[in-house]
Amino acid sequence: MDQDSPEVMTALQAAIQSSGLCEKIRIDLAGGGALLKSDRSPVTIADYGSQAIICKMIREKFPHDSIVAEEDSKELKKPDRSKLLEQVTNYVSAFIPATSSEEVCSWIDFGSNSVTGRFWALDPIDGTKGFLRGDQYAIALALIEKGEVKLGVLACPNLYRDVYHPLGEKGCLFLALKGMGSFQMDSMGANKRPISVSKAKSPSEAIITESVEPDHADHLTHQRLAQKLNISKPSLRMDSQAKYGILARGEVTLYLRVPSSAEPGYTENIWDHAAGSIIAEEAGGRVTDVLGRPLDFSSGIKMEKNRGILVSNGILHEVVLKALEM
Ligand code: AMP
Ligand code: MG
Repeated sequence: MDQDSPEVMTALQAAIQSSGLCEKIRIDLAGGGALLKSDRSPVTIADYGSQAIICKMIREKFPHDSIVAEEDSKELKKPDRSKLLEQVTNYVSAFIPATSSEEVCSWIDFGSNSVTGRFWALDPIDGTKGFLRGDQYAIALALIEKGEVKLGVLACPNLYRDVYHPLGEKGCLFLALKGMGSFQMDSMGANKRPISVSKAKSPSEAIITESVEPDHADHLTHQRLAQKLNISKPSLRMDSQAKYGILARGEVTLYLRVPSSAEPGYTENIWDHAAGSIIAEEAGGRVTDVLGRPLDFSSGIKMEKNRGILVSNGILHEVVLKALEM
């Protein structure tokens, strides 16, 4: 697979369309409000619209690939949700004309739970809480073959492009291909440039990134680790896999995700890490769980063999793993 292969072209086009839809909803409706799913996590019309567009585009080009995606249309099809389904359909129609509600639901449901030899992992909006707050969120799409991530695309529509101008232009698209490096583009796929991780050799130079939500990671343990390693710079809290993107472009050095004491047994979902992990690795970084084990994308939706996540610039990985043994 190279940069011009149909997989890359389709993934980029799908992420670009979905970014347009998500930003339109965010600006029009300030996120559009959220429903709570059975696990009490939020879902918005943008999550549904994004999944519909991306699944349709992938299924059309690659009818034999399965798609493992976060949402399904069950809730949307309930009679008391008809207004919501109408809103999703109207927004999707702005990108794919003459779309019916039945089509939207069927496209969403191209997403299944089957992890096969070759499949796509999709988080239509990663960091929905960030999306609703007007902070960071990402559209994350990865192609996985025999448990190995081959391609990752991460759209971060609200992320500043230039670290030196955080109030400047926003909208980044990250792309990585196995063995071929990582790249950052603007939201429409223009101005592509290779990116690489920070060259920091000493932990004291490091900057940590972590979740905003205290229930998603153990901020106190991160703080203790920072003290132990003489990390004095403040941690950068950010929602979504945008954290992988800013690490890959050298803006931060470590992404820590020690399981929160609110939910110590939490197992990560593959769609929350597949795209981000290849983007960090191909930029020269290293990605494991907090015990140093490689991430398992082959066993199912849940990464049962892993606990938490550690991403680094590679150089600092072992020293941080050692410090995590505390
Ligand atoms: P972040 O924005 O990095 O905090 O991550 C957002 C993701 O955290 C969501 O997509 C959820 O799948 C995931 N998540 C939900 N609950 C937890 C939890 N208790 N621990 C870790 N991650 C979680
Ligand atoms: Mg997610």
